[in-house]
Amino acid sequence: ANVFKMGWTGSNERTFISVKPDGVQRRLVGEIVHRFERKGFKLVGMKLLQASAEQLREHYRDLSEKPFYSSLVKYMSSGPIVVMAWQGHDVVKSARKMLGETNPADSLPGTIRGDFCVEVSRNVVHGSDSVESAQREISLWFEHHELLCWEECSQPWIYA
Ligand code: UDP
Ligand code: MG
Repeated sequence: ANVFKMGWTGSNERTFISVKPDGVQRRLVGEIVHRFERKGFKLVGMKLLQASAEQLREHYRDLSEKPFYSSLVKYMSSGPIVVMAWQGHDVVKSARKMLGETNPADSLPGTIRGDFCVEVSRNVVHGSDSVESAQREISLWFEHHELLCWEECSQPWIYA
């Protein structure tokens, strides 16, 4: 898994974003992808899948002592999710800002959670909380060959 970590700094920083089952059911995949595209981040991996409880327990292992852990795993395995890896300068922090707060009630309009959901237990989208978490989560959900390095023609219009 260490191979995933090489060069993930500066404008090569990567984060893990997923559209949760409620986001897929509510047809928000395109909206969420659209926001990251328009921002100027680069999509380097994406797939639709049915997550297993085992994968989700691992993904959310830091929350295993929380009272909502088992309902969270059940929610996240209740239907297909879309997993994505996005790349760009400071993408981990910027993506968290674009998502809003964990609780949609605390999320400002203009953020994904502020615009599209109401309850913390149905908050439509996940985003890594640190560069280290992003590396761990991308390694968990993607095989190396599923992450593509590609040159964007818009690069000089997004980065000076
Ligand atoms: N969650 C919940 N109840 C809570 C707190 C969190 O159901 O009181 C869920 C919610 O879906 C959240 C996820 O658990 O997105 C992970 O929690 P975390 O604190 O990591 O929030 P996030 O990083 O997703 O903002
Ligand atoms: Mg989190």
